[in-house]
Amino acid sequence: KLARHKKIDFNGYYFADADVRINNKERVGMVMKEVWDVTGYRFTVHDHRSMKTGNKTRAHCCQDQEKTKALKPSPGPNVKHRGYAAMERFACKGTLTVCSRWPSAYAERQRVSIRMKHEKKHQAYYSVALPPEALWIIEENVERSTPTELVGRIQALYRNLTSAQVHRAWTEKSQVLWERRADQLPSARALLAECGDEVDVLDTVMEEGVEQLCWAYKKLAKDLKKDEFTKEIAMDATYRTNSKHLKLYAIIAEVDGAGVPIGYCLLSTASALNPGKRKRALLRWATALQEHYDLDSAFVHPNQDVAEIGMVRDWWPLAKIQICWWH
Ligand SMILES: [Zn+2]
Repeated sequence: KLARHKKIDFNGYYFADADVRINNKERVGMVMKEVWDVTGYRFTVHDHRSMKTGNKTRAHCCQDQEKTKALKPSPGPNVKHRGYAAMERFACKGTLTVCSRWPSAYAERQRVSIRMKHEKKHQAYYSVALPPEALWIIEENVERSTPTELVGRIQALYRNLTSAQVHRAWTEKSQVLWERRADQLPSARALLAECGDEVDVLDTVMEEGVEQLCWAYKKLAKDLKKDEFTKEIAMDATYRTNSKHLKLYAIIAEVDGAGVPIGYCLLSTASALNPGKRKRALLRWATALQEHYDLDSAFVHPNQDVAEIGMVRDWWPLAKIQICWWH
């Protein structure tokens, strides 16, 4: 019936048998995933609301032009994009609202209502042609497994599928978990804002030409101060993990023999920043961490990198700098 229409305006509800293991918020999450599977439209959560009788989540279509217009990627001259296919956007004003509540008249059943609107019915983002069972395996495991782990399992069932197809499907399916905007740093910032219970975004003053986003696991960082067993703090960085060539730095504390991540910093391409700029950016991050959580450490293990070592010298003048054994 929808095929003949240019718009989508769906409004309906059903009753689900109550299950003590599924609360209203979880029910809403499950239904949103089902809407995605059935319609192909992906929605980005706008907000979750707890009401007296249940839960409600509002979301907008992730392909809505208006939601992403102000956030067009603005790659610097030295930034090369790699393997990142931007999805097509439409003036669809697409919204989805899912609500699950305990109605007083039917105490044992959850009343689930779904409202989906699209002013323009467009082609859905999801377009990889895989058998439904293979897609199902990917969906079920998208949060727990890497694509490489799934390739063998899927190819055992479907020998004709290539690992590239599995990778692509995994990337598309997993995007809904982490992609919030077209541009990477605003996207990461929006995702972190959704995790406000666990994460502090540390605002640092940005220098011209530097893109930086810093955050910390606030519970871990606060607990660390109380822990007298913290002896060492290490810094590490990953390279080439990201299509925009952002570098991810981590500060990890050693607590009783185990590594505990405290804070992270995403920074523009190493090669595009001179060591002085990079050092100052790292220093701003470390200082923000230190000020927020009052951190201190006797030993610091930076990588063998001029900017990192310089930053540690300025940050903890009394710390003994040890280059990691591997280097
Ligand atoms: Zn849409």
